Amino acid sequence: MSSPTTASGAWYSTAGRAPTSQAAIARCTWGDVDHATVAFGMATPSGFLASTGVAGLTLGGGTGYLTRRFGLTVDNLIAADVVLADGSFVKATEQAHGDLLWALRGGGGNFGVVTSFTFRCHDLGENGTVIGGPVLYDLADAPEVMRWYRELLPSLPEELSGWIGVLTIPPAPPFKPVKTFGSPLVVGLRPMPFNVLQSAFDALYPAGLQWYWKADFFKRDLRRGDRRAHQVRRPTADRPLDYAHVPDRRRRQPVLAGSTAFAYRDGGWAGVIVGVDPDPANAGVISQWARDYWQELHPTSAGGAHVNFMMEEGQDRVRASYRGNYDGLVQVKERCDPENFFHVNQNIPPASGDSA
Ligand SMILES: Cc1cc2nc3c(=O)[nH]c(=O)nc-3n(C[C@H](O)[C@H](O)[C@H](O)COP(=O)(O)OP(=O)(O)OC[C@H]3O[C@@H](n4cnc5c(N)ncnc54)[C@H](O)[C@@H]3O)c2cc1C
Repeated sequence: MSSPTTASGAWYSTAGRAPTSQAAIARCTWGDVDHATVAFGMATPSGFLASTGVAGLTLGGGTGYLTRRFGLTVDNLIAADVVLADGSFVKATEQAHGDLLWALRGGGGNFGVVTSFTFRCHDLGENGTVIGGPVLYDLADAPEVMRWYRELLPSLPEELSGWIGVLTIPPAPPFKPVKTFGSPLVVGLRPMPFNVLQSAFDALYPAGLQWYWKADFFKRDLRRGDRRAHQVRRPTADRPLDYAHVPDRRRRQPVLAGSTAFAYRDGGWAGVIVGVDPDPANAGVISQWARDYWQELHPTSAGGAHVNFMMEEGQDRVRASYRGNYDGLVQVKERCDPENFFHVNQNIPPASGDSA
């Protein structure tokens, strides 16, 4: 028997030195980047795991532990080296190929092969130490915990962040006592280097699993109908629902909103429903479960989704995800990839090839 619980990681950091920059080769994982920066007490905002690739996560936007405090990953992308479809090599910065840099800040792999990224780094405090870790509740409390988290977090300081997910505690002896605790069952918050927090859950998702995602952005005013959906669909370790808070930073940094292709800046949630399974025979089961769950929550959606969590959902969903930025992305696509050579992605076809 195993004990299903929800988990919420959280961290604090201190403000301090001026940011500096860090280059990452496109094949790196975020664990590689953390390894280079946390030793100096610095980090670039990325995701909630260390095993994710730098390139794909960055090009889609990037939500993670540091997003509330320092922005999306794309908000911290200063420059990118890119091989375009015609084989030419360019460096995209604010000063040169500024339109391409804008498009790479959320527009995905549509515009070329990025061979190197340069990011802004931020001070995390002494030795890169944050306070973080899991807080675990019984699955029966999940709807209440989710509602509390989603309603409270936006009003809390941006130094505090986390994610909410559903996991299964192994039945091994160290975890047995959690069943006898009250609620919450475990509070695992403690000081740790940021890269330790970021890699804490990597082992849950080793390479080689098959995944099926369904995603949506959600507004703040979520309907109570969610509660029923969570109870009926009963997310588990292999079938989690995760929410990442994407704060409204437009008032604090008005320029930011227009400087990236990432379009959802209203202050809300990037939600993703995930089916994970090692056995290809279960492909139909996990995809049907995710689609049904998504269908129930979709009426509360803000429209599109974080493209990092989308599969083949058609051109309308891609358009909805980029909102008013879509036409600008088409223009950059026309300039950088007029034949749509890079189309195995959340595709933004050049105007001539757009059949939607
Ligand atoms: C376990 C897990 C956890 C995740 N957690 C988060 C999270 O916390 N936050 C978040 O935002 N996302 C998260 N994601 C989603 C993740 O950002 C996307 O799946 C992303 O596409 C992964 O990028 P990759 O480079 O690892 O994958 P890849 O499969 O290598 O790339 C995905 C796509 O990115 C493009 N691409 C990749 N490399 C390049 C390149 N060099 N140049 C141009 N285009 C390129 C291509 O279109 C490619 O098809 C997670 C995914 C997984 C599997």
